[in-house]
Amino acid sequence: MHELSVTRNIVAIVAEKAGTRPVERVRLQIGRLSGIEVSAIQFCYDVCIAGTVLEGSRLEIEHVDGRARCLGCDKDVMVEHFTARCPCEQQARLQITHGEELLIKEMEIRA
Ligand SMILES: [Zn+2]
Repeated sequence: MHELSVTRNIVAIVAEKAGTRPVERVRLQIGRLSGIEVSAIQFCYDVCIAGTVLEGSRLEIEHVDGRARCLGCDKDVMVEHFTARCPCEQQARLQITHGEELLIKEMEIRA
């Protein structure tokens, strides 16, 4: 499963930054075009944090909507999938600007 390796990476990065300090909360930013299954990330997280400084921490996920710029009319449009086209007359290709991200936005150390 793709999400398992993604989650392992996230946990490893956070654990490295935390060192020996226990982690309280991790906030991720996941784009709707990233292809990441959010419910799977949540499930894998609980598995991956066992026995690490992240054990017992809370995972928060912030969704980022897909947005793109039309190469024809230069408008900013919302997109739900990669093959989307601008509703303008040119039916031009869209350049994705938001929604592909997978970022560790914040991490909080337990006081
Ligand atoms: Zn357009």
